[in-house]
Amino acid sequence: TRDIVALGECLIDFVPLPAAEDGKLNFSGCPGGAPANVLACASRLGLDTAFIGKIGDDAFGRLLLDTIQNCGIDTAGMIVSKDYLTTLAFVTLDEQGDREFRFYRSQTADYMLREEEVDETVLAYSKIFHFGSVSMTKEPSRTTTMQMVKKAKEYGCMVSYDPNLREFLWDDLYEARKIISHMLHDADIVKLSGDELEFLTGTDTVTAGMEALCRKYSISCLVVTMGAEGSLCLCGGILVKRLSYKVITIDTVGAGDTFWGAFLYQVLRGGLDIKHPEEKKIAAALDFSNAAGAISTTRAGAIPAMPSLEEIRKLVGVEG
Ligand code: ATP
Repeated sequence: TRDIVALGECLIDFVPLPAAEDGKLNFSGCPGGAPANVLACASRLGLDTAFIGKIGDDAFGRLLLDTIQNCGIDTAGMIVSKDYLTTLAFVTLDEQGDREFRFYRSQTADYMLREEEVDETVLAYSKIFHFGSVSMTKEPSRTTTMQMVKKAKEYGCMVSYDPNLREFLWDDLYEARKIISHMLHDADIVKLSGDELEFLTGTDTVTAGMEALCRKYSISCLVVTMGAEGSLCLCGGILVKRLSYKVITIDTVGAGDTFWGAFLYQVLRGGLDIKHPEEKKIAAALDFSNAAGAISTTRAGAIPAMPSLEEIRKLVGVEG
């Protein structure tokens, strides 16, 4: 059996390097895409994972394929397109180290994934199906993603969803809210940022927003990440908030995805039963995931920054 199969965008993140003195911008091309990042973390922690997505038959696509394979992620579901180029995204960091993304994504491979290209039988032996919203910003990958979620439910997979709102990728934010809300109905376990929670609920009171969302969409386990402040989880009516760990942050790219890969690890291997949770298991899962997210911010890029089990345990043990 597989632990997690994820579907979604797969692209090259160009992360900034220190500015050149001659005024040129310097970037380093790092393999990225949120669902693949989540798998990279889960795989680093020892889970059995598989990725479904589409890349171009170009140097960037080959880099993605190599990198994802080197993480130990199964890539049988990765389509290499002769017709479309690999998607690129440029990341710039502000003074706080927070990042802004710009996607170069016109007629590129990641969202050209068609339903008939995906082998659904992988769901028959997978415990968790994970997806995000970037693959739902455009057709045909919108329908492909939605159909796979439907099939994942039919196959009895636990459905994990990170709405990962990238406002500039949607033609219309009303549509974004409608589609994301619709998908929450099918999700068992959901990760949001504080901003995304506010976007979906209209309230800036985190706990009230979490309670309203869980009730409305029957979400078993809802997690909200708050950057350096840590995270909250509402699961089985139990609300737990845990602070993150103090680290020297240089780059927050991929922190949320790393956090989520670690949280799914806790669901599968850490004894957090999302249908019958114990408060101490929720707290332990948040501590573990906060530590994973924190460690990832101490290194550049997303996939190269994934922490090991030992590193996470050490940080939790030292400060926990
Ligand atoms: P994304 O924008 O990729 O969806 P996100 O907003 O979900 O990311 P964050 O909330 O920024 O992700 O970070 C996820 C987790 O990583 C946090 O809940 C926290 O545990 C940890 N983390 C992030 N930034 C820091 C930091 N500066 N110091 C310590 N921990 C951090």
